[in-house]
Amino acid sequence: MVGEEITHLSRRGKYIGIHTSKGTLIVHLGMSGSLYFVPAETPPLFHDHVDFQFADGGLWLRYTDPRRFGAILWTTEDWQQHELIKHLGPEPLSDAFNVDMLFARAKGRKVPIKTFIMDSKVVVGVGNIYANEALFKAGIRPDRLAGGISKARLARLVECIKVVLAAAIKQGGTTLKDFVGGDGKPGYFKQELAVYGRAEKPCLVCGMALKEIRQAQRSTVFCTNCQS
Ligand SMILES: [Zn+2]
Repeated sequence: MVGEEITHLSRRGKYIGIHTSKGTLIVHLGMSGSLYFVPAETPPLFHDHVDFQFADGGLWLRYTDPRRFGAILWTTEDWQQHELIKHLGPEPLSDAFNVDMLFARAKGRKVPIKTFIMDSKVVVGVGNIYANEALFKAGIRPDRLAGGISKARLARLVECIKVVLAAAIKQGGTTLKDFVGGDGKPGYFKQELAVYGRAEKPCLVCGMALKEIRQAQRSTVFCTNCQS
């Protein structure tokens, strides 16, 4: 990228595209990576791995990643066709994520609905917290098999996923441990979680104790009364 000008930025799933006229740098932040600006010549600390130095100013873009699960890749091809990206499902807030698409993909699938909507080949961006919340809002049990859910109920689920994600984005994401947004501030969505992290606490709708199970090694919390 030396000498190249960044023409634009884009995103697909969890992948950030930094584009130049010659190609695209694909960045995945992993579990704990972040990109932020530092004053030029700031010495790197132990977890700082990459600096992007700009010709025109006093700031460098720094990539830091304490747990080193992130990745930075360069491609001169169409980045949407990259092996890591071309199999991804639609963006959840786009029109491409709709009930017709979800119903067709769910047909005959004997996988729990929660695991199904967290599969990035089905739809990207529905992480564990948001899957829990969307299923609660939609009144669907997380352990119900994807292929056995009616189209009307899937339509409700699609709507709830969009509402939950849009609300979380508006509040800058969900802060659990050390997450901060690009502005250095924590996310505030945690204050609105109805089920995630609330096992054994009363359901906000009916008051019954919420139940916790494990699905695909992830915590699932739901209301056995409100969700069926
Ligand atoms: Zn309930």
